[in-house]
Amino acid sequence: MDYIVLDLEWNQCPVGKKEGVPSLPFEIIEIGAIKLNEKKEITDRFHRLISPQVYTELHYQIKKVIHKTIKDFDRGVSFSEAVTSFLEWCGDDYRFCTWSGGDLTELQRNMKYYRIPIPFPRPLIYYDVQKLFGIAFESRKIARNLEYAVNHLSIVKDNPFHGAYYDALYTAKVLQKIETSLIRSNYSIDCFIPPQTRKEEIYAVFETYSKYISRVFDSKEKIMSDKEVTSTRCYLCGKPAKKKIRWFSSNNKHYFCQCLCEHHGWMKGKILIKTAEGGKSYAVKILKLVPFEEALKIKEKQEELRQKRKRKRLRQSLAAEK
Ligand SMILES: [Zn+2]
Repeated sequence: MDYIVLDLEWNQCPVGKKEGVPSLPFEIIEIGAIKLNEKKEITDRFHRLISPQVYTELHYQIKKVIHKTIKDFDRGVSFSEAVTSFLEWCGDDYRFCTWSGGDLTELQRNMKYYRIPIPFPRPLIYYDVQKLFGIAFESRKIARNLEYAVNHLSIVKDNPFHGAYYDALYTAKVLQKIETSLIRSNYSIDCFIPPQTRKEEIYAVFETYSKYISRVFDSKEKIMSDKEVTSTRCYLCGKPAKKKIRWFSSNNKHYFCQCLCEHHGWMKGKILIKTAEGGKSYAVKILKLVPFEEALKIKEKQEELRQKRKRKRLRQSLAAEK
């Protein structure tokens, strides 16, 4: 299996988001990619400039970052042409690697806009090198930029940043420094097209947590009344962990719970409600075994929320009296 390290540059509506095309907020203008074999040796390179069709002027912020003008892209090929040759170049046994999670989303969004069939397997597993860098060298919680990682690993900086090709090359060099077993066991799951049926729902167990991705629902309300979404099975033994604090939310987007597996101890749960293309919603549930002190924080969070609501009600009733 090859690693395809992918980096994209994209443009956006130069006069502001509101004037843009809703189904194509970001138009890809450059594709850079590096192919590595199983041993993470670089075996091939890919680079295309794309002549933009939708936003034919560069957004000022993009212009500042990428050190190119719109003229540079005029000699590019069409997106369809670029992506078709890119996919052909990828071969048929590969996994994408990107710096953070946005590139695959935009790639697929652009493909959808141009009605190019999306040939990727579902679920689409990929490696987020930014996340892997954190796990390997720092912490899971901090998201660093590419140049930071390059500096941290003393990789020679012989080319500029913020071009698709050299960013892909730098990302590949960071990837080379990460142990293969760590890469493989800390994969990411792209959800541009989330599961459509119960059967397609995703269950993944990682070293320190588990992740479940539900199928799409018509409404957010339906999600939280689904038994599978709200279940809290322990990911180590598969047995139900008893909820000590039921799912609660502050904003109907994030839910939290606290539960206890009688064999493995305290667990905290988090559900994120996400919006899919086309307006449907789905849930991403993370369950994590934690020390008791950390499980307690869920209780504190709930208490805080209660107090906040209480104060709000009080303010409202005071205002009503006036
Ligand atoms: Zn258990």
